[in-house]
Amino acid sequence: MPELPEVETVARGLQISVAGRRIVSVTLRKTDFMDDPDTIEREVPGTQIARVERFGKFMLLRLVRDRAASEPEASSKALLVHLGMTGNLAPHFAEQPRELRYTDARRFGRMAYLAGETLAAELLRFGADPLEVTAEEFAKRIESSRARIKALLLDQTVLRGVGNIYADESLWSAGIHPAKSGAKLKRKELARLRQALQKILRKAIQMRGSSISDFVDAEGQPGDYQQHHRAYGREGKKCFRCGRAIKRIIIAGRSSYFCPACQRAPHREGRIRKSTKRKGRARTSKR
Ligand SMILES: [Zn+2]
Repeated sequence: MPELPEVETVARGLQISVAGRRIVSVTLRKTDFMDDPDTIEREVPGTQIARVERFGKFMLLRLVRDRAASEPEASSKALLVHLGMTGNLAPHFAEQPRELRYTDARRFGRMAYLAGETLAAELLRFGADPLEVTAEEFAKRIESSRARIKALLLDQTVLRGVGNIYADESLWSAGIHPAKSGAKLKRKELARLRQALQKILRKAIQMRGSSISDFVDAEGQPGDYQQHHRAYGREGKKCFRCGRAIKRIIIAGRSSYFCPACQRAPHREGRIRKSTKRKGRARTSKR
């Protein structure tokens, strides 16, 4: 599934190829991945694509009705597009007028036309952008939950845009076990994790994302970042840091790849709790 770097890559490509263009007509085929196909058919024709942005794992095609008038934010409208597992949104230049086609074989994607308060409310459901979040906000969002750090990184209401690949890569880089509780992370670890996450996401954007299945950008080109994966998909292979074999466990229903030596399991805390209990009991028996 495309994550932040892949969606950013597609959005940048579309910004170059379709921003500023007017939508003449909309043709819908299968519509089961659309929130409200009738609204898309009715509202989108005649609008101009002002710009294409990434929002978490979504793309936002910001639409304007009249290019001369600068419309107030309350009347803002956008086509929200999620690429799902196999979605592809790309311009097709062969025909006149040009076509912007969304194809999605497995239809796990989502498309919705949203405007005004509905658009604002939809965007508010998501957490902070991992590339823009401050160290303080990042720490607060993670340490306020006892959920496991891997699950927190995947939770789009905590941070928007991180998926399985970049969660595993940043945890490996920061030396944090994926099953560790968010509330148990020290500020030093949180700072290291945020730094690792941002560095990895920026590098992946530079390399136009990871192509692990069939991801291609708006020009039909695969990304290159998969060559830099250090944990994700490397079960049984040697850790690039210490040489131990990378392991795979299931957390929050997803595969998590980690190094058992560089990313220590959170058992130690459990042991400390048990030994305190024992001491307590010993004291009671003395009394
Ligand atoms: Zn290691």
